[in-house]
Parts: sequence; structure tokens; C-alpha cells
Amino acid sequence: MANVNTDTFLENNKKYASGETVHDSSHPGAQPINPAKHVAVVACMDARMDVEDILGLKTGDAHIIRNAGGVVTDDAIRCLIISHHLLNTNEIILIHHTRCGMLAFTDDLLKAGLEGDPAAEELIGKATGREFVSCNHSSATPDQFHAFRGPLEALDSPACDAQNERLTWDVRRSISRIMNHPWIPTEGPDASTVRGFIYDVDTGGLEEVSYPGPMGTFG
Ligand SMILES: [Zn+2]
Repeated sequence: MANVNTDTFLENNKKYASGETVHDSSHPGAQPINPAKHVAVVACMDARMDVEDILGLKTGDAHIIRNAGGVVTDDAIRCLIISHHLLNTNEIILIHHTRCGMLAFTDDLLKAGLEGDPAAEELIGKATGREFVSCNHSSATPDQFHAFRGPLEALDSPACDAQNERLTWDVRRSISRIMNHPWIPTEGPDASTVRGFIYDVDTGGLEEVSYPGPMGTFG
């Protein structure tokens, strides 16, 4: 049964959060192309997260797909399909995290700033502490930044219940994108398991997000 490795990684994470090293960074020699633990991880690109350390992965254990937010974008789906059908992974782990930059803007705000809206430039500058320099052009791509839904907070705000709720929504949204994709089986003999977590950048620990679950109310 799939999922056994995810539980082992959670045990590894407890060791990591208490200061113990599980990940071995030395080159292991020749290895097969298929991930040894049959695991694919989708995680945020945040500089404070070393996925191999957080989960106690060894070289060759897992595919690690990273982007801003750890969002299950079209490209993440593309990677997961290849990971499962060609390279034999069957456990998917999603990792969002506290203090994520994706909590500090909206797609419309960032687009307006990039296009030259002075009010948007000022707001983004205040949120990030970096002078925002507009490009003063519109662009068709990227069509989405996938900023997290909900009321904005300043960049790198400490974890709180409201932040945790917004992160939880996006983990659930990401799980849903996988569960409802016709080319990633999550039922039947070829099923992959999907579990989502919020990583606490202050403590080093992982908290699992229940799925399905509430997605909040608008406002
Ligand atoms: Zn992040």
C-alpha cells in the first residue's frame, strides 16, 4: 500500500525539527532513474526550506517540484503525470509554509504594479520593503501568479490563525487539482496517495492539512 514513505518522512521531520540531521548530502554513486521511495513532492521555492532536510530524503528518493507557493500549477501537473506514469511514483506530498510571500499580494495588484499603476507600486513597495520598479508594459504571460486567496498581510508576517487558514485553503485547492485530474489516478490499482502539509519555517515542523475541508467565506 502506498503512503508508507510519507509517514516515515513525518518521523524524519520530527528529528529535523529537533536538530537532528537525517539527510545525507554525499554522492551515493550510480542509482536508478526511478525515485527509490516512489515519492513526488511539490513545495514552495522559499529559501528557508530545504526539502531533502525537512523530510530526511536521500539522493535518489524523490522527485522535488518547486515553485512560488508550492502551487499545483499546470506545470506541476505536467511533472506529476510524468513522475507517476513514466517514473513509477505513487505518493504525492504537497508542502506550503508559514510566512509565505504568496500571502502578501494579489495577482491583480502585482500585474497593475508591473504595468505601471503608481498606487500598486506603492502598496507592493510597502509590503516588501523593496522599492518596486515597474516595467510599464502589459504582458500576456504569466496568465496567473497564483497568489493565495484572502486578506493581504505584510511580507513575512508571523504565523497566526488567519494566515494558517489561508494556507490551508490553498493546500486544499492544490490537493483538489490533483484529485480531480483525469491523468493522475487517485483511486483504483494504479492510485497515488496525496497528502498536504504546512511547514513552519520557525520551528521546522510539518502540520498535515485535512482534505476535504472548509474553504472559508468570501470577505
Ligand atoms: Zn512560499
